[in-house]
Amino acid sequence: MAYRAKAKIRDMEFIQFHPTALYGAKKESSFLISEAVRGFGAYLRNKEGDRFMLSYDERGELASRDIVSQSIDIELKKTGASHVFLDCTHLDIEAFKLHFPNIYKTCLQHHINIENHWIPVVPASHYLCGGIDIDKNGKTSIVNLFACGECTRTGFHGANRLASNSLLEALVYAHNIFEYHVTHEYKLMNIEIPDWNDEGTKMQKEYILIQHNLKQLQALMRDYVGIVRSNDRLKKAIKHLNLIYNEVEDLYKESKVSTPLCELRNMINVSHLIIRQSLDRKENKGGYYNIDNV
Ligand SMILES: Cc1cc2nc3c(=O)[nH]c(=O)nc-3n(C[C@H](O)[C@H](O)[C@H](O)COP(=O)(O)OP(=O)(O)OC[C@H]3O[C@@H](n4cnc5c(N)ncnc54)[C@H](O)[C@@H]3O)c2cc1C
Repeated sequence: MAYRAKAKIRDMEFIQFHPTALYGAKKESSFLISEAVRGFGAYLRNKEGDRFMLSYDERGELASRDIVSQSIDIELKKTGASHVFLDCTHLDIEAFKLHFPNIYKTCLQHHINIENHWIPVVPASHYLCGGIDIDKNGKTSIVNLFACGECTRTGFHGANRLASNSLLEALVYAHNIFEYHVTHEYKLMNIEIPDWNDEGTKMQKEYILIQHNLKQLQALMRDYVGIVRSNDRLKKAIKHLNLIYNEVEDLYKESKVSTPLCELRNMINVSHLIIRQSLDRKENKGGYYNIDNV
C-alpha cells in the first residue's frame, strides 16, 4: 500500500529463510524445528541419506542460517526432492525431550518418532529485511506517514537479520514514533477523502479467479525467486508476474473490493518489488544469493 502511495521502498531482495520448517505441516500453521536442534547435534541428510552440509561449509550443520538454507535449496534442486531430513536418532532422546518438548510432541503428532525417524524439513520464508524506508523516528518518505515493524526498512538488520531482533526493532521504533509525536508539533493537513465509489463494479460470485492467480503467484515466487536466484529466472518471473498483474488489475477494476482480492493485489506489488530490487543487486550479500553474481 505504501509503495502504491509512492513511498520509498528499499532492500526487498533481502529475505531470510528459516532452514528447517517441518515438511508436511499444514500451510497455515507452518511449524519450525528450532535451529537449536542442529546446535544440539542433529544432522541434515538428503534423500540418499548423505550428510551433505559438510560439502558446503566446514562448520557443517552449524553454518549460518543463510548458508544452511542455500545448501538445502541446492540439494533439493539437484535431487528433485521436496525436502531433506533432520536426523536426531543418534542423540540422547531423554535430554532432547527435556530441551525441546514441543518439537518432540509435534513430531509425534505427525507420526514422526524422532528416536527412529528422521524429521522431514524444508526451508521457509521467515523475515523480510527490506520494506518502507524510515528514519529513526519512523518517518517514511511520505509526509505524516509513519511506519514500524517488519513492513519497514530501518537498516538495523543489514542484509541479514540476527535472530530475535525483529520484535525488538518493532518495539523500539514504535516507541520512537510515540516520543516523536509527543515532543514535536506538526500540522495535520486538511484533506478531504471522498467516499469509496464502487459504481459499476460487481460482487465476485466465485473466488476461483483470485484463487487461481494466488496459486500461480505463489508457485512463481517459490520456483523463480526462491533462496538461490538467477538473473534468467528473475527476468522470466517479471514476465509471468506482468500477466498475473494485468489479470488481477482488470478484476480489481470490475469488482467490489474484498479482502482476498486486496491481499492478492498487495502480494503482487510486494513480489514485483522483490524481483525488481533483486535484479538491481549486483553482489551477493547476507540473505541475497544470485548464482550470476558469484
Ligand atoms: C515462524 C516465525 C517465528 C518468528 N520468531 C521470531 C522470534 O523468535 N523473535 C523475533 O524477534 N522475531 C521472530 N519472527 C519475526 C517476527 O514475528 C515479525 O517480524 C514480527 O511479528 C513483525 O511484527 P509486525 O507487528 O511488524 O507485523 P505483524 O506481526 O505481521 O502484524 C501485522 C498486522 O497487520 C495486520 N494487517 C495486515 N494487512 C492489514 C490491512 N490491510 N489492514 C489491517 N490490518 C492488516 C495483520 O493481520 C497483522 O496482525 C518470527 C517470524 C516467524 C514467521
